[in-house]
Amino acid sequence: MIRTYKCRVKLSKSGHETLSQIFGMSAELYNAGLESRIDCYRKTGESRSLYDQYKELVQVRADLPEYEAVSSIVFRGVLSRLDKAYKSFFRRVKAKEKAGFPRWKNRRRWRTIEINDQCWRMLKKQGDKLVLKIKGLPRIEVRPSRELPPNNLLKAIRITRKPVRTEVALSYELPTPEAKPLSNPVGIDMGISKRLTLSDGETVEKREIDRKKIIRLQRSVSRKVKGSNNWRKAVSLLAKEWQRVSDKERDYLHRLTAEIARMYDFIAVEKLKTKNMLRNTNLAKSIQEQTWGKFITLLDEKAESAGGKMVEVDPGGTSQECSNCGATVKKSLSVRVHRCSCGYEADRDVNAAINILHRGLTIAGGNVTRMAGRMRERQADVGPVRPRTVYGCVN
Ligand SMILES: [Zn+2]
Repeated sequence: MIRTYKCRVKLSKSGHETLSQIFGMSAELYNAGLESRIDCYRKTGESRSLYDQYKELVQVRADLPEYEAVSSIVFRGVLSRLDKAYKSFFRRVKAKEKAGFPRWKNRRRWRTIEINDQCWRMLKKQGDKLVLKIKGLPRIEVRPSRELPPNNLLKAIRITRKPVRTEVALSYELPTPEAKPLSNPVGIDMGISKRLTLSDGETVEKREIDRKKIIRLQRSVSRKVKGSNNWRKAVSLLAKEWQRVSDKERDYLHRLTAEIARMYDFIAVEKLKTKNMLRNTNLAKSIQEQTWGKFITLLDEKAESAGGKMVEVDPGGTSQECSNCGATVKKSLSVRVHRCSCGYEADRDVNAAINILHRGLTIAGGNVTRMAGRMRERQADVGPVRPRTVYGCVN
């Protein structure tokens, strides 16, 4: 189980400049590697392996002192990125998908350093500070917001320059916790009113993100002459505001998913239809879908860490189906209550969430028919069911 911790960093001004240089050198090496691969294929009809390119790197470092001055692990990361781009190109060709050939990189747009080797040696404690020490790179002080796992589990380091600041992502290979017998299942419905409804009747209200300031700053950017000093200042203010809003959102989603994963050990959610997402031109809706996507990713991680399980189910018709008898009860969006001829009545979203839970349990192989029967008995006298008390035997 891989877990990534994003950390803020402290970096001197000259450190920033050194990083920029290394980004540029990385892009150049990437392009040279790409050229060498194309060239080799033209001349011999054979492809060059990552291992061949590592050998070429040794030559490059012998010829160019500026490359010699930086740890070879940094540049191996560049070559393995090229290798990945190549492999996924051929995979797409083979699968007859649309396949773009790896592109040339612009040195001004290269913004990451990836290290996948010997990471445990590079993150060091200095007093009460955590410092990344890599040959040729500036001193980078790492400031994690959570406690980090032990160093020997550190498998990858990624340094990324964002518009406003530089970030370090530390990826750890953690032992997968043992799955426990599931006793607290829940289904989650993401409603049109953009709130979460849980199958036990809990709701999480929609969270308003204040985007007024972003809109204002966006307008201010578009009023300025492109490329002017004032335009640059406005762009940087806008980037800062975006960063602030998305930090806030990320933090909120982390806390929300952690809480859900603590409360429930089996979680069923709706599967996002990515095709719809790509076709979607409605901005508000696409932001909502992106948030939902992030929510699912984080929830899956948190559930796994806690020894629980999350499943994604087909969302089709979950609001029309009766969670008690399975009949289809057609209703428009404005109808907020589900009323079925079988006598079952519930909040529209709670009914949908219970359906999602049912589908999740089917996927997971739980004995749903038997449990549905028990649920019906309960619903008859206590109204909306609290599945946690019902699905005690699911595994
Ligand atoms: Zn019914």
